[in-house]
Amino acid sequence: MSQHILTICYLIGSITFIIGLKMLSNPASARKGNLIAAAGMSIAILGTIFLFTYDENGTVHHLGNYIWIFAALLIGSIIGTLSAKKVQMTAMPEMVSLFNGMGGACAALISIVEFNHLSKSLGASPTTEMIHHAQPTTLIIVLGLIIGSVSFAGSMIAWGKLNGKVKDFSFTGQNILNIIVLASALATAVYLIFNPQQHSLLYVILGLSVFYGVFFVMPIGGADMPVVISLLNSFTGVAAACGGFLYDNKVMLTGGILVGAAGTLLTILMCKAMNRSLKNVLIGSFGANAKSTSAAGIQGDHKEISLSDAAMVMSYANKVLIVPGYGLAVAQAQHTCHELEKILTDKGVEVKYAIHPVAGRMPGHMNVLLAEADVSYDILLEMEQANDEFATTDVVLILGANDVVNPAAKSDPASPIYGMPILDVQLAKTVIVNKRSMKPGYAGIENELFFKPKTSMLFGDAKKVLQDLCAEIKNA
Ligand code: NDP
Repeated sequence: MSQHILTICYLIGSITFIIGLKMLSNPASARKGNLIAAAGMSIAILGTIFLFTYDENGTVHHLGNYIWIFAALLIGSIIGTLSAKKVQMTAMPEMVSLFNGMGGACAALISIVEFNHLSKSLGASPTTEMIHHAQPTTLIIVLGLIIGSVSFAGSMIAWGKLNGKVKDFSFTGQNILNIIVLASALATAVYLIFNPQQHSLLYVILGLSVFYGVFFVMPIGGADMPVVISLLNSFTGVAAACGGFLYDNKVMLTGGILVGAAGTLLTILMCKAMNRSLKNVLIGSFGANAKSTSAAGIQGDHKEISLSDAAMVMSYANKVLIVPGYGLAVAQAQHTCHELEKILTDKGVEVKYAIHPVAGRMPGHMNVLLAEADVSYDILLEMEQANDEFATTDVVLILGANDVVNPAAKSDPASPIYGMPILDVQLAKTVIVNKRSMKPGYAGIENELFFKPKTSMLFGDAKKVLQDLCAEIKNA
């Protein structure tokens, strides 16, 4: 009976994962979707802890070890809750990377533990029949080990790069060395599948996979880490799915497959939104190369606008479109931005936000940031919608965005961002750009938009500038 209830718990878990994922695709339902999936996961975990039984010499056993399990759950929950509450929005990719690494490490540990069980049951000199019988399990174990440990090691390096502790590192022939290391890990894995009694080889595979994970991520430009993390996330999903096969656990299998598929789709979408191939991300060293090609042909001066003039232009506009970018997240200016939007709306100005799919440093970064400040989802325009509205817009206010409004993506085939879809802000009557200096953004290239006659620069930290703009417009 308890096994039937457990199966229902797993079914509930799997269904809630799918519903949760679907709800995550819309900012309005994302929070609820996350909670629903988490509730399903809790049911599956508690079901496993209390209802799972196994048969040993004719006696039915429960999992036991409750103190260990709940102590680990408690410690993990405290660490997870505190770090999620403390983390800054700009450090979110770091946190995702760390959590993803933990997932990969879990999958690798499961493989090590299960291989030890298998080795014990095989003994020192197993019969051919025993070896044949153990081969499918060994295959799943080594797959989980390789994928999980690559994901763990790669995510740790990605985490180090994002927080500036690990620098980009590459040497001539590194890609060839990487291929040799990966091929050696796979060859050893194949040997182990046919000779599962050689259990020490499992640690050779572990070492080679960790080495590959480190050296696979090391040469990739620090700025490309969000794409790499998304890719590694899909690896972790596949490694977890291997665990599902191993334990014949349906919810682990469904969860793993969903994470694997979602990570892969996200990686493809991010590459598409930047108009870059995955190969270019993995071996292109984007930001690093771009700096040297920057600013080649841009001539002329930029012009500045004073705070009071900017306030006046916006107050008298019919329609203002705000373009948020990475700098808004850095300045943590989302609440002040919402305040400016309310002040302008109260004055009868129509205000909307133009959201570029890769603005910021992670997918949906601007949506999450603005949702945090309670900006209404109805006034968030996706790129295509916004591009249709710029021609009828009086003022575009760009807040800490750069690459996503760089016309070189359309006009300069030599530009590293050529082909990336951008927000056509120059179609509006007036463009005001807020940033702290003329320094480039993520791609490391200059932006000719800043030198156009329609454009005026409003220098300063986004939060301070927005606070001053709010005060100025209120007092006008
Ligand atoms: P960018 O990185 O191009 O530009 C951000 C700008 O913000 C900088 O030029 C900087 O200029 C300015 N800035 C920084 N701090 C502040 C501050 N405190 N106040 C005001 N301005 C500030 O950002 P975008 O959002 O335009 O573009 C995102 C880039 O990231 C794209 O190239 C995209 O491909 C890439 N990317 C995005 C991912 C995603 O999933 N969203 C993933 C990986 C990469 P200054 O220093 O002069 O202030």
